[in-house]
Amino acid sequence: MLYYIYPKLVSKNYRCSWFGHQYVLTQKVNSHFQEFECKHCKSQVTNDSRGNKIILTEELKEINKTLHYLHIRNEFVNHFYNRQKNRVTN
Ligand SMILES: [Zn+2]
Repeated sequence: MLYYIYPKLVSKNYRCSWFGHQYVLTQKVNSHFQEFECKHCKSQVTNDSRGNKIILTEELKEINKTLHYLHIRNEFVNHFYNRQKNRVTN
C-alpha cells in the first residue's frame, strides 16, 4: 500500500535501510561537532560529545549555530590576538 503512495520515499529509505546512510559533511561546527546529510534520503544528523550520530532536530540546529558562532568568534579573537602579539615581539 505505502509503496504506491510514496514510491520515491520508500525506495530511498529502502536503500538506506539496506546499505546504511551515506553521510556527507555539510557543516563543521567546531573541532568536536559536525553536521552531516545523507546523500540518498537527505536525513540530517549531528554527532554528540561521544561521537555517536544523532538526528539533527531544530533544537540541535540552533545549538550548533550558537557553537559555530562561538567557534568563529574564538578563532577571530585568537587570530587577532596572535597577530598583535607577533607585532609586539617583532
Ligand atoms: Zn539515508
